[in-house]
Amino acid sequence: MADDCIFCRIAAGEVPCTRVYEDDTCLAFMDIGPLADGHTLLISKKHYEFIHEMPADEAAHLGRQIPALARAVQEAMGADGLNVLQNNGHVSGQAVGHVHFHFIPRVPGDGLGYRWPARESDTETLKKQADAIRQRLGT
Ligand code: AMP
Ligand code: ZN
Repeated sequence: MADDCIFCRIAAGEVPCTRVYEDDTCLAFMDIGPLADGHTLLISKKHYEFIHEMPADEAAHLGRQIPALARAVQEAMGADGLNVLQNNGHVSGQAVGHVHFHFIPRVPGDGLGYRWPARESDTETLKKQADAIRQRLGT
């Protein structure tokens, strides 16, 4: 547990939350500053700052909760869709340095929008990038 981490303190029961799901290793609760009605967070109880720091089996346990939680959040809010979002690093928008997934229900005209400023690329560039990634994966 990181003493200065708000999500560790929530996981330890030192700071209250509005809980929707809990088991030995993860916890889901309502976001205190929701982007939409029903905005829910899923956290690992153990402190990891970034997703790539998590052991695969612990990340897999979090991942196993995603379909049921996504369905429950979307249906409970009567939403038409849902964004599942996981930020890593300040540059990505991460404000709380403890791994968490956002579940954000979406309805038409909710004003949240969706920014996806796709760029053009070319096969040569994509191949180089894939090579660099594959090298690190060892595949
Ligand atoms: P991120 O920008 O991905 O790190 O998201 C952090 C989220 O945590 C924000 O949506 C905050 O509203 C939410 N948050 C921060 N403190 C609390 C808290 N005590 N209880 C519930 N949600 C929180
Ligand atoms: Zn933490």
